[in-house]
Amino acid sequence: MDGLMMNYPLTLVHLLERVNQLFGKVEVVSRLPDRSIHRYTYADFYRRARQLAKALQQAGIQRGDRVATLMWNHYRHLEAYFGIPACGAVTHTLNLRLHPNEIGYIANHAGDRILIVDDVLLPLFERFKNHARFERVLVVPHSATAGGYENYEDFIVRGEGAFDYPRLEENEAAAMCYTSGTTGKPKGVLYSHRALVLHSFAFALPDAFAVGQKDVLMALAPMFHANSHGIPYVGVMLGAKLVLPGPHVDGESLLELFQSQQVTVTTAVPTVWLMILEGLEKDPGRWRLAPKLRGLVGGSAPPESMIRGLDRHGVRILHLWGMTETTPAATVSRLKSYMRELSIEQKYAVRCRQGWPLPFVEIRAMGIQGEVPWDGETVGELQVRGPWVAASYYNMPEESRRWTEDGWFCTGDVCTIDSEGFMKIVDRTKDMIKSGGEWISSVDLESALMDHPAVRQAAVIAVPHPKWDERPLAVIVCKDGEKLDENDLCSYLGQKFSKWQLPDAFVFVNELPHTSTGKLLKSALREQYKGWKWAEGGRV
Ligand code: ADP
Repeated sequence: MDGLMMNYPLTLVHLLERVNQLFGKVEVVSRLPDRSIHRYTYADFYRRARQLAKALQQAGIQRGDRVATLMWNHYRHLEAYFGIPACGAVTHTLNLRLHPNEIGYIANHAGDRILIVDDVLLPLFERFKNHARFERVLVVPHSATAGGYENYEDFIVRGEGAFDYPRLEENEAAAMCYTSGTTGKPKGVLYSHRALVLHSFAFALPDAFAVGQKDVLMALAPMFHANSHGIPYVGVMLGAKLVLPGPHVDGESLLELFQSQQVTVTTAVPTVWLMILEGLEKDPGRWRLAPKLRGLVGGSAPPESMIRGLDRHGVRILHLWGMTETTPAATVSRLKSYMRELSIEQKYAVRCRQGWPLPFVEIRAMGIQGEVPWDGETVGELQVRGPWVAASYYNMPEESRRWTEDGWFCTGDVCTIDSEGFMKIVDRTKDMIKSGGEWISSVDLESALMDHPAVRQAAVIAVPHPKWDERPLAVIVCKDGEKLDENDLCSYLGQKFSKWQLPDAFVFVNELPHTSTGKLLKSALREQYKGWKWAEGGRV
């Protein structure tokens, strides 16, 4: 027997209407490319997002058409996040940190019809415009010049007046984002209204990231990557004040904005948190941050010393794991009610794990012989399923092997799961080091190295070895004014690792390559060091 409840669609349109009706006075604060601060309210946002929706409809945009954005995090990008889906189309966020050829490839693959681009990004657009096939280009005028293109402001003026939303179904597509290609060709993930709404609900839960209307949310992760970790949707759903930092994401600019806006929740990758920590350490006592600032970290594994360091400055770090394919939040590391008695050391060990799945997300670790036990030791490939996990990529049938026959998504991450359900990422399949038939986790070595007080950054990669197949090589950036040698680091690591797991070589450099989303670009390092000549002997 069916339940007798209304079949009410979970769409972003409802969130847009609600935020105006109930929270129209709440502010959205943006830092613009010229560093000036722009403020308006959710009522202004609502009016303009609807204008955009109507103008797009009048311009012939149909249900399911893709409208691309090439923009920093600011209020007009937020308008695109909601205005485009409100007319039934799909917001496709292009990653401005990719190579222009790659951006062009992605825009064509997605079949984007219109592009909305920040004027300050026009030089980037010029570099791929001949490869892309946009019918129209709308330029967001930060500095009063649209460079000969149509002006976004003139465009949305045409959408003034009443607007009738199309009646959208919750499973229709609302947004699109391509994976940033850390492991292979970029692949398009197509989010439905329903997935974005349910993800926002789960994100806000007290046992997830505990966000409410009284919070001040900063969308710090780029809005062109994994929906800025979902913060813009959560902010609008709750009617919480939203802060958008524009292109200014260095430690000092962020701390300034945290302080002036009294931000209480934000998310970032470890590289950005490390920058913020350095800013706090450099000038202790300078910054007056909100007393309950919660920082979510994900995207790669945060070193324990970073979590401890931010704790010392009153920034409470919560660890999440997720992917573009999981909207992105899928697991969170939180102590359970009966874990209060754990020692401080044990609590940190738990917080360094990637955590347990949010409601409706299921996880399992698969070995060669099937699912591995939840014993915290046996490793397997992490697989996930749930209502905000992608069911396939956009127009890429060749990638269907990423889904199992019984409907799980194969993440490409290797993990353990303990008896409490805490998942720990051991590595990405491609980054594990296979030494003499045993596996070494590059992530564990990196995290331990980064805990050394004189190390700023560390990458550990597999380098071919004539006898052992592969051996670990560590590439280290020391903190300013610090000097280290191999012996220092080996004896430091020796406290945690067996001798055969230690890197056979350490290289000291001034900086490490990063991906467009601030992760270590290990493929570039592997390429650079593939011909490494190992010294005689070694550690095995
Ligand atoms: P990309 O493939 O470009 O890196 P994503 O941003 O979707 O794209 O990255 C997802 C990957 O990031 C995960 O598969 C995982 O390897 C890594 N990751 C995400 N969160 C964490 C975390 N908390 N700890 C370790 N790795 C993480």
